[in-house]
Amino acid sequence: MSELNLILLGPPGAGKGTQAEQLRTEFELPHISTGDMLRQAVAEQTELGELASSYMDAGNLVPDDVIIGLLLQAIGRSDARDGFLLDGFPRTIPQAEALGVDLEKVGRKLTGVLLIEAPDEEIVRRISGRRVNPKSGQIYHVDFDPPKVEGIDDVDGSELVQREDDKPETVRNRLAVYHEQTAPLADYYEHLGLLHRFDGSPAPAEVYSRIRGTIATLKLEETI
Ligand code: AMP
Repeated sequence: MSELNLILLGPPGAGKGTQAEQLRTEFELPHISTGDMLRQAVAEQTELGELASSYMDAGNLVPDDVIIGLLLQAIGRSDARDGFLLDGFPRTIPQAEALGVDLEKVGRKLTGVLLIEAPDEEIVRRISGRRVNPKSGQIYHVDFDPPKVEGIDDVDGSELVQREDDKPETVRNRLAVYHEQTAPLADYYEHLGLLHRFDGSPAPAEVYSRIRGTIATLKLEETI
């Protein structure tokens, strides 16, 4: 069995989304991002979206009972039966425990947890420079990936905005929440022998090549 069941762990802005995109393409894993699922619910103004938006705008976590059900449903779907890549889940110990119990019930297990680390100041700089086209979702960065004309989308000319949860004060709260509630998961998965640490400071391609090397080893171990 060579099912790859991976978790991407790390503070917001460490580059999880970028790495997930590459991993998804190369290893054909469904990328399950609870943040994306919630943002979609907010955009569609569903009941879940209404509930989640106040937590998200303040940079706080949506309650465990809401997010756990959503996530377990997603990994039970047919396209995630042969492997998955979780991004943004688990964020708390109860979420990790619920995931472990659910996987065990169906005879599956995690292959590895990839922790991407970056210093807080670097994170604030990265996230608070993000600008997004609210219509297409296209993301720019004022320093690293600016549009041709400041504040305007290159493709459709829409005005770019800063997401509420990307504002510097909210980012600092997201980081505080991360250190308090999510960082303990590193120890949790280390004890289970599943944790692999990566420095998120180098260029994304460099980070990816290190992650790829680790996954190659994990795949090899699965087949032995
Ligand atoms: P992200 O894009 O992963 O940073 O998620 C954006 C926001 O969605 C977070 O700041 C939380 O408010 C919420 N969120 C995403 N995933 C979770 C989760 N696993 N548990 C609780 N809240 C979450």
